Amino acid sequence: MAIRPIIIAPDPRLKKRAAPVDAVDGEIRRLMDDMLETMYAAPGIGLAAPQVGVLKRVIVVDASRKDAPPEPLFLANPELLWAGDEDSVYEEGCLSLPDQFADVARPEACRVRYLDKDNETQEIEAEGILATCIQHEMDHLEGLLFVDHISALKRSIILRRLTKQKKADKSDVWVPKLRTANAEIAEEEESARAL
Ligand SMILES: [Zn+2]
Repeated sequence: MAIRPIIIAPDPRLKKRAAPVDAVDGEIRRLMDDMLETMYAAPGIGLAAPQVGVLKRVIVVDASRKDAPPEPLFLANPELLWAGDEDSVYEEGCLSLPDQFADVARPEACRVRYLDKDNETQEIEAEGILATCIQHEMDHLEGLLFVDHISALKRSIILRRLTKQKKADKSDVWVPKLRTANAEIAEEEESARAL
């Protein structure tokens, strides 16, 4: 497994429609494993392949509680079969929009068909934060970000902030670091920042 750099918005690569996978084979499973490791390191509860520069319809999600065992989900070619009539509002963030948050309304429940890690067709019925997360990640496959669900004014404020930050950092990606208790590494990072 490997951690992959995450593309930061605004970026044309995040605005493209991703292509379906033919099958979940070894290459896609490797991508799924890398995406999960990247997501956990960030840390985040969902990640879509376009965020790591791969225009394929693959997402990973783990909306389990922090104090509960991990419940990773791997979804290829996810397809919305049904969405509830009622909306719920969550304050959403996104690993491609670091440190930016906004309230977004989405159907509070949904049913999705997908190919799992073994290339088997599965269906999942989700509600609450898991439903929000799956819909947020599926949006990425259409080239949509959570800021596309909020007012144009709020969107432009957030995107302008990110553009400024990217210019200051001279980078359009960021690389999550594996969390570690190793003080030596923490110190190294500290001095790297100081330079
Ligand atoms: Zn996102």
